[in-house]
Amino acid sequence: MGKSLDYDVIVVGAGSAALAAAISARNERASVVVLEKSPRDSMGGNCRFTDGGLRFWHRGRAEIVEFMPDMSEEEAQSIIIPEYAADDWYNKLLQLSEERADPRLAELLVTESNPTVRWLRDQGLQFELAMGTAFRVGDRFTWRPDGIPMHSRGGGQGLLSQLCSIAGQKGIEILYQTKAVKLILDSKAKVSGVTILGKEGFRDIRSKAVVLACGGFESNREWRAKYLGPGWDLVRPRGTKYNTGDGLRMALETGAQPSGHWSGCHAIAIDYDYSRIPEGEDIPLVINRRDCLLGVQVNVNGMRFMDEGKDLRNYMYATVGRQIIQQPQGMAWQIFDGKVTGRLDSDYRNAPSVTANSIEELAGKLRAPALTRTIDEFNAAVREETPLNYDVTDGRGTVGITPPKSNWAQKIDEPPFVAYGVGCGLTFTYGGLKINTEARVLNGEGEVIPGLFATGEIVGFWHNIYTGAGGITLGAVFGRVAGANAAAE
Ligand SMILES: Cc1cc2nc3c(=O)[nH]c(=O)nc-3n(C[C@H](O)[C@H](O)[C@H](O)COP(=O)(O)OP(=O)(O)OC[C@H]3O[C@@H](n4cnc5c(N)ncnc54)[C@H](O)[C@@H]3O)c2cc1C
Repeated sequence: MGKSLDYDVIVVGAGSAALAAAISARNERASVVVLEKSPRDSMGGNCRFTDGGLRFWHRGRAEIVEFMPDMSEEEAQSIIIPEYAADDWYNKLLQLSEERADPRLAELLVTESNPTVRWLRDQGLQFELAMGTAFRVGDRFTWRPDGIPMHSRGGGQGLLSQLCSIAGQKGIEILYQTKAVKLILDSKAKVSGVTILGKEGFRDIRSKAVVLACGGFESNREWRAKYLGPGWDLVRPRGTKYNTGDGLRMALETGAQPSGHWSGCHAIAIDYDYSRIPEGEDIPLVINRRDCLLGVQVNVNGMRFMDEGKDLRNYMYATVGRQIIQQPQGMAWQIFDGKVTGRLDSDYRNAPSVTANSIEELAGKLRAPALTRTIDEFNAAVREETPLNYDVTDGRGTVGITPPKSNWAQKIDEPPFVAYGVGCGLTFTYGGLKINTEARVLNGEGEVIPGLFATGEIVGFWHNIYTGAGGITLGAVFGRVAGANAAAE
């Protein structure tokens, strides 16, 4: 540990949100220390498990290529990136949250997303095209309207190593295996430091401001059962084991106001075998999501239970895990036919699967005799007169069955038939702290808690559904704001 135990700004956590806050505070000439609970080699929180995609409004290809100065003219000509308007994101975000998202925070997130990605670039962060989510149109590549065309170079780990190196060059200290356990308040109830537990035991570090950026509570079994509900204690988190709600607990103890969707979370369909890996052991670092937009999803009894085509992938995938754990054995089968298997994401490649030449044979292999009837009913309900278009919500749905499939419905009638087993993977929790547009934490009466700021997953922002790749952007936008305001304290 460094000698100084007195800083202008303490940032708790060393994920992407924390590092953005630390860099922003340091740019204002504050002395900054970052406290990280994990050892150095597993630092970076959930960001470490991402592919580093950032959602932000942009003007399309001409602007995106500006972020990648090394891109050749030939490569630039080989991509099609339509504009993504700030209003599109803002309206979708409010709509998906059923108008529960704080409109002032949502507006700040959306409008500042583009300037903040530019700010990250100006700090030295490098980007590359997210080719893993691109698809081919003739001899060019494009992305769906909800897609993310660009991510940080080297994905989530690349983002972290770049931010750490920028932080190091700016003289920001990061203390690993240093857990924040308590906020210190002065006699005027201003947050003026943090009690830490490190290799040398308990110590107090003093500061003029504290930025909490230490994530949600997805890796706290007890809180999962308490806030998300029965059964969630058994669900496998996909990311870091260190996000156990410490920052939330510390802030709530000082009177901070809970905000966001405390019984809600981001949970997706993942490979069933991965969902059974014991908690505490890392899930292999692959993006193991299993979207089922092109097929149907049934439970172990062969019954459909959700609208597989409710919306574009990035506007619905985070709800699928919740629906799976409500099924018997917390398991589902995703069923595709020969027409679509070639279009499945690369995540399905080499995944364990069951194959058959008829639905009857597949039903036998899955020990789900009702599957045959489910598929017959589904096939009879497909509105084939509506043209199929994977690139938009095409309205090619089903009629007369419950649940419906709203888009991209196609008969499942062409062998070979393939089934992939999926379980629930918990990404992160939505419950958090109430902040204002200065990223200051508010108390139960809606007043500022002096000296206390928050950014990232610890902020209670999301409700019901998340807009894919909004998490890193959220941490960066509010981190930049929090860092600058904390430095000014
Ligand atoms: C598999 C996966 C894929 C994802 N893909 C994407 C994506 O492509 N794009 C996107 O935008 N989002 C993605 N997300 C979500 C994204 O990871 C988060 O929204 C973002 O990383 C949150 O940043 P954060 O800094 O708030 O939290 P984290 O990155 O989780 O960092 C929190 C840090 O706080 C530390 N900490 C916790 N408690 C303490 C304590 N008491 N003292 C000190 N330190 C503490 C933790 O160890 C951790 O390092 C993904 C998440 C997962 C799990």
